[in-house]
Amino acid sequence: MKIKIGVTVNLANYENIHVEIEGDEREDDLIMRLDQILAKLGRGNADTAARVDAYRRRVLVPNAPLPPPPRDPVVVPVENLEPIPEVQVQTPTPTAPRATGTSCEICGKELSSTEVKFSELFSPGRAPRCSKCLKK
Ligand SMILES: [Zn+2]
Repeated sequence: MKIKIGVTVNLANYENIHVEIEGDEREDDLIMRLDQILAKLGRGNADTAARVDAYRRRVLVPNAPLPPPPRDPVVVPVENLEPIPEVQVQTPTPTAPRATGTSCEICGKELSSTEVKFSELFSPGRAPRCSKCLKK
């Protein structure tokens, strides 16, 4: 017994694809062949291919693999962009002597921790002096 299957896939712009096949094989094989023909049609255009594939899924092979989704350019609205927070890098200041809170007995200059140590070394038990005043 011969089976004849004809399908028409409607496309955009009043175009359509009409495929008609005829054979005396099992109807499953005929449908498979029709699906294979449709799988080759419209491949040059993503929209056409999508319509043909949608038809194939609906009518012919429900489990046909989905075509890859059309690649739309991702448009990110500018106003939704959150401002990038400024990262403040804190650089340590290793060379600056730590303030000791001690000032020179004579000139009143604030002494560094080194000067305080020197003052204790050279004139122990006396009020701290800066290195200049120690030499006097
Ligand atoms: Zn001094």
